[in-house]
Amino acid sequence: MTRVSPIQRAIVVVLDGLRPDAIPRFGLHHAAALARRGSSTMLGRTVEPSVTAAAMASLLTGASPERHGLQDTRFRIPRPGGVLHPLPRLLGEKSLPSSAFLARMPILFSGIAQRMATHLGFSQTRFSGLGASDILTAATATLRDQKRGLILLHWPDGDAAGHAHGWMSDGYADAARGMDRELGRLVATLDLEDPATLLIALADHGGGGTRADHHDSAHPLNRTIPIMLAGGAVRRGDLGAGASLLDVPATVCWALGIAQPESYAGRPLLHAIPGVVEAVAA
Ligand SMILES: [Zn+2]
Repeated sequence: MTRVSPIQRAIVVVLDGLRPDAIPRFGLHHAAALARRGSSTMLGRTVEPSVTAAAMASLLTGASPERHGLQDTRFRIPRPGGVLHPLPRLLGEKSLPSSAFLARMPILFSGIAQRMATHLGFSQTRFSGLGASDILTAATATLRDQKRGLILLHWPDGDAAGHAHGWMSDGYADAARGMDRELGRLVATLDLEDPATLLIALADHGGGGTRADHHDSAHPLNRTIPIMLAGGAVRRGDLGAGASLLDVPATVCWALGIAQPESYAGRPLLHAIPGVVEAVAA
């Protein structure tokens, strides 16, 4: 069996700490338009614990926090509970590039962050500025030139404002609108009619569930996330309440023709990209 897919690259944007209800509440037009145009859910689930380190590790390894071993808020090289197959490394084995664009790290963490990115198999990692605007600007040339593989953007703005001012506060609303503006700028640089590009925008966690300025308890407001898929190969539709952050790496594997390792806990969102099929080699 071989995979037949029109999709050549996946662009994954992590809107850190964006609660789904912030989209209508604060008039996040670009996020709302993206959700309408493709397949999306406002009832997606993140991993437990609902913290960035655990969620990002799950996004990049396909494994649950139990398996990848990052189960708290500390960034460190974890001791996994089994063999892991990081998505960028899997893509690299097929000669597909992976690029990551993140905010600048405090100097104390920059070494470990770079080591983790290399360990995961990224061919390019850039740490730039403090928020979505600088990070997107740093990614501009790659978004134009890298036509295959994976491009990951992590925008920390929503989470930073949630911790500083509380989720759904005025300060949080400003940050959410800022991320939405950059999402609009990103979409404007892409051709979403093109079946070769799959754009996935999602949050890593919500916030304000048990405490206004936190997101780590198992409260539904912390664990519920928006997940949005768009692109020329994506069908318009509702992903439903069953979709999970763990389905995103499985979907990227599926879309890019990579066999899904057993360690991946999610399932590809097949109904969102009906043009990707398994075919018996002729
Ligand atoms: Zn946080």
